Amino acid sequence: MGGLLGLLERPEVVVGTAVLVLIAVAATFYSFVRTARARQTRDDALAREKGLRKQFEAILSSARDGVIVVSHSGEIVLLTDVAAEMIGVDRTAVLGSGLSKLQIHAVDEHMRPLLAYEVFAPGRDDARPRIIGVPGRRGSQDVRWVHVRSVAVSDAVTGGATVTTLMDTTGLQEAAEALSRSDSQFRRAMENAPMGMALVDLEWRLMEVNRAFAEMMGSTVSALRGTPFSALSHPHDLQAERDQLQRLYEGHQNHFSLEKRYVRADGNVVWAVLDVGLVRYAGGAPDHYVVQVRDSTDDRLHSELMAHRAMHDPLTGLANRTLMQDVLQQVLDQPDPTSRVGVIAVDLDGFKGLNDRFGHATGDNALVHVAGVLRSATAGRGTVARIGGDEFVIVVQDPDASKALYEIAGAIHAGLKRPLQVKRHQINLHASVGIAMADDDTIQGGAPSLLSAADAAMYRAKALGKSRTEVYDPSMRAISENQSILAGELAQAIERGDLVLHYQPVMELSTRSVVGYEALVRWQHPTRGLLLPGAFLSLLEDRKLATQLGTALVEQAAQFLVQHSAGNAWVSLNVSADQLGDSEFANSVLGAIARYHLSPQRIVVELTEASLVAPNTRIRHELTELRNAGVPILLDDFGTGVSPLSYLRDLPVSGVKLDMSFVAGIPEDPAGARVSRALGALARELGLATIAEGIETESQAEFLSKCGWRYGQGWLFGVAQPAAAVLGQQMPHADSLIEPRPVDLPFDPMGTRSLG
Ligand code: C2E
Ligand code: CA
Ligand code: CA
Repeated sequence: MGGLLGLLERPEVVVGTAVLVLIAVAATFYSFVRTARARQTRDDALAREKGLRKQFEAILSSARDGVIVVSHSGEIVLLTDVAAEMIGVDRTAVLGSGLSKLQIHAVDEHMRPLLAYEVFAPGRDDARPRIIGVPGRRGSQDVRWVHVRSVAVSDAVTGGATVTTLMDTTGLQEAAEALSRSDSQFRRAMENAPMGMALVDLEWRLMEVNRAFAEMMGSTVSALRGTPFSALSHPHDLQAERDQLQRLYEGHQNHFSLEKRYVRADGNVVWAVLDVGLVRYAGGAPDHYVVQVRDSTDDRLHSELMAHRAMHDPLTGLANRTLMQDVLQQVLDQPDPTSRVGVIAVDLDGFKGLNDRFGHATGDNALVHVAGVLRSATAGRGTVARIGGDEFVIVVQDPDASKALYEIAGAIHAGLKRPLQVKRHQINLHASVGIAMADDDTIQGGAPSLLSAADAAMYRAKALGKSRTEVYDPSMRAISENQSILAGELAQAIERGDLVLHYQPVMELSTRSVVGYEALVRWQHPTRGLLLPGAFLSLLEDRKLATQLGTALVEQAAQFLVQHSAGNAWVSLNVSADQLGDSEFANSVLGAIARYHLSPQRIVVELTEASLVAPNTRIRHELTELRNAGVPILLDDFGTGVSPLSYLRDLPVSGVKLDMSFVAGIPEDPAGARVSRALGALARELGLATIAEGIETESQAEFLSKCGWRYGQGWLFGVAQPAAAVLGQQMPHADSLIEPRPVDLPFDPMGTRSLG
């Protein structure tokens, strides 16, 4: 390393200068003596000489270097204190005596003793100083190293002399040794360092690199030596590096760190943290750079990953709510967003049930599948985000946003038509979609305003029968605000018992006698009056609440049955698949049966959305539990499900309820009539009890009865009424419309029919 050698070279310069000065002084002295001799008496001259010598010696003795002057005849004519101390002699004893008699303690580099003559004789090469050692008393380590330089000065008067300067270099020597020691240690450490290291010259050229550095750059140590370091840099990061180097070189900083990219020999880019220090000479002049390079590609990837994670949904990789809101606010902040920005809110229909029925793994599969559908429907025209369980939002940015919104919404429904295959099951997914264009109102209200507009449209789509798209109009906002108020009140209402069952009679069609009741829930709202299930059941998103409500309604139904005079009339409770799976519902039904000593056949379960009840699930297990305990299970809305016929054979079902949409057209609509007849025949074939609902006219009742529908309910026979009203009507003195009588329950819950 040049810097270390430089330190050793510099003392020579110092000594050389000192010697030249001394020669000049000595020459002046002698010439002065000679001139004095010529003009004055010897005594005068001697006196003057004495005075000058004193002054001269005073100058010399204040110097850090020692000086000895030996006359032509070998007599020591001058010896400074520093020089006497350096070679370990008594100055006054030695002055004036002959050099040959001088006993000194000196050794050469190989520790061989030197004679005084050998030390002070002018060398053949005057420019090269000799180095002598002056051993101390504390063993071989205790050597003082002295640079000795002797110069012969010729002079006609005295016959010339030898001027010798002595300079103690012990400190420098030790420093040099330590440096060379640490230099080799540094080299060893550098070679084996796991971190990339390089020594770089002031032209930013690689002088030395280690293996780790070469590996990082995808090259070899020998190939890299001499290469300009900049050639390895990613072009985009060159300027930053240059700026920092400049500041370092100019002394504005001692060191700098920079994270930057390098291009490997194979063309791949690596991220690295570059640490650069500038090594300077003792005087401060820059010598070279010491560089450390640490591969930060992994860190970088990791931090990019973390940043991505903070902004994305880990399951689907879509943007999360935070990112979506940022994006939306950004596009709304751009000039004139009204024709170019819109939002689509997407909510899956029946997702909670799917999750419960098929398990979370399948639920996750479905979400990933939907994410794919949304991405391809959006086709780069916006940002797709998942903002909650099964809620998605697409921020659309397009020159013709309204056209894009409709196209994307259409593509979503079309994309979801392709069923999701999970093991043996084909799962049909549907979504309710709401779209809203940015307008002056929403721009003022910012992102939240446009989002809630799309949300309101989506809720409208749900309310209008799901699996469809609705476009926002301002009247919707009131509705959606209304909904959220109701949702907030629901928990308390359940607690207070404001949700009550009304009972609609079910008749035996041939005899027109009441055999049971369907229990339908109503919310007796303190200010809004009686609310029907359509107004609030969809707000029941919290599973705990749904369970709580289910349990309360079972209790109400059981109390109703106990008070009912007909000991075998039954009540059917509506249960959606959402409420099943954790056996809470089955436990409360079986618990009520036990507590009120009811025949299990008197509580009947009506199952909706049965098409989603797959085999080997907890819901199926819960239904089987009920059926095994003697509780009949009816399939509600028969004829509308996607695959009810295949499930009919597999599910533990005792009967079916014909969906009222078929009944409505009877007898005028030939299709409705045909389907009603066919479904009745099928149900009977399977040994199932048959109940038709929505019977409003006498002709409907007659037709259905003829087609084999044994039981029926509807406004023809009575609307759903509160328990007190129904129980009051059956009192013997009451003017009752319906005379309940004992009936043989048609159900065969334990299954005389095969369930295979
Ligand atoms: P659903 O089980 O199909 O109930 C029959 C619906 O038709 C009831 O509406 C009933 O009031 C109505 N209805 C009865 N007779 C006639 C008729 O002759 N003509 C016409 N057009 N309609 C008639 P509601 O009470 O609004 O219930 C709607 C749905 O809410 C029910 O459909 C059922 O799926 C659900 N639901 C009701 N109560 C409960 C409950 O306690 N728990 C659960 N999970 N769902 C319930
Ligand atoms: Ca029902
Ligand atoms: Ca129904």
